[in-house]
Amino acid sequence: MESEDLQKMVDMLRRGATLLSRACPVCNSPLFKVGGKIWCPTCEKQVIVVKEGEPPPPELSSILLSSLANVIYEKLREVEVRIREAEDAGELQESLRLAVGLLEVLERIKRLT
Ligand SMILES: [Zn+2]
Repeated sequence: MESEDLQKMVDMLRRGATLLSRACPVCNSPLFKVGGKIWCPTCEKQVIVVKEGEPPPPELSSILLSSLANVIYEKLREVEVRIREAEDAGELQESLRLAVGLLEVLERIKRLT
């Protein structure tokens, strides 16, 4: 855990938030209850917690998918740099394979949203 994230959690407790025994479905950080809302200090947004066995509400799936898509875009940017800076064919091939894998995930996310 980043010390910055830890600091955010300490601040939340100071402001009277309650630490919950559940983890954020996106980043796995402990969640807090503030004024009737469940909040993830790491994602800095409200989290909709679903009871196990219940289908997630559509809003949750779209939050999850868009957050996943953002991570994939970030990774693609990293891979783009690797492709540009590849020094041999092996490195280039490896980076291209990564890019294809990431693009495939994005395709699937698009199909679900
Ligand atoms: Zn989170």
